Amino acid sequence: MKNFEHITLGQRVLFGSGKSAEHLSAEVSRVGASRTMVIASEFERSMAETATAGISPALWWDEVVMHVPVEVAERARAAAVEHDIDLLVCVGGGSTTGLAKAVALATGIPIVAVPTTYAGSEATNVWGMTEERTKTTGVDDKVLPVTVIYDAEFTRSLPVELSVSSGLNALAHCIDSLWAPKADPINQALALEGSRALAAGLAGVAADPNDIDAREETLHGAYLAAVAFASAGSGLHHKICHVLGGTFNLPHAQTHATVLPYVLAFNAPAVPDLAHRLAAALGRPAAGNQDAAQAAVEALNTLRRTLGAPSALIDYGFTADGIPEAVERVLRAVPASNPVTPTEENITGLLTAALHGVTPTAALAAPVEAR
Ligand code: NAD
Repeated sequence: MKNFEHITLGQRVLFGSGKSAEHLSAEVSRVGASRTMVIASEFERSMAETATAGISPALWWDEVVMHVPVEVAERARAAAVEHDIDLLVCVGGGSTTGLAKAVALATGIPIVAVPTTYAGSEATNVWGMTEERTKTTGVDDKVLPVTVIYDAEFTRSLPVELSVSSGLNALAHCIDSLWAPKADPINQALALEGSRALAAGLAGVAADPNDIDAREETLHGAYLAAVAFASAGSGLHHKICHVLGGTFNLPHAQTHATVLPYVLAFNAPAVPDLAHRLAAALGRPAAGNQDAAQAAVEALNTLRRTLGAPSALIDYGFTADGIPEAVERVLRAVPASNPVTPTEENITGLLTAALHGVTPTAALAAPVEAR
């Protein structure tokens, strides 16, 4: 039986390699903006110059800091007001998009986003800011970019290692969407197609970083992942990574890439139909529901081996001493929708395996107590 409420966020998407300047100038005319503020870090400046070749920005802003400190957001907001800005154009990764969102949150100025990584922030209505080492996030439709301009040419410069961790971060958006609090048949369909596109695209990027078709496929998958995630919300995987990043200061994309197979191994036995569809999306169809969980886990393990993905939290500074506190924090945050009941014992088992990079198997987090 299907019984659900689904909200689709309204956003225009323009996709085309090498077309960012054409698409951006058409968008600026379409929204009738006359005073544009371009947000891009110093490193991202040359990509931003390419994208803005057809417009005349009123203001350039390059103070971009990871996790958007409130004082940085406040300076950018004040500059936008002082220069009478009527459109924000952000060209860069999730940190740059995040700064544009912070300005939009305070001012209501619309955003056109030109993403250059696979983070996916451009397709969500979620903002995040950091004050006194604490990151706060919230949801507000004002921060959802009115338009996203995807140009895979910009992702050519992403080194393979960053492509892999950023792409697996996007795959985590897909897989966690399968059991997140607002998971439904629509966002699950987007998540599964996103998984297929990311697996195929990333394998191509790892084989040849200049393969523009593979870059496009990965970017397309990253967008689907973000749309699914924005709709379904945060599940067990994101709650674990939030604790590891926020409390233990582990790096964002690498932590996601490392933890993902353990969360899949933990939950997959309790959702065999979804595991079956995920295994097929990742290129390893299971013989039947009985083998579906292990097939999905093995498909992800194979992909991660092909990509040379990060595999153990110990490599990023996490230690066994941190596990009890992490477990306590994760247990407080796990949504009730999680298909397996989390306990001190099974979350300790999950984190211990991820700490040491034990090969994930569908029996890893047993005993599995399905809800
Ligand atoms: P990032 O934006 O910090 O970029 C990482 C590095 O890559 C930076 O040094 C950047 O200059 C560089 N870079 C960007 N584009 C490049 C390119 N094409 N080639 C080479 N280098 C390039 O990192 P990120 O992973 O893109 O974003 C992570 C941030 O986004 C985190 O703060 C995360 O919380 C946030 N995020 C937010 C949402 C949301 O919905 N609000 C979703 C996903 C991520």
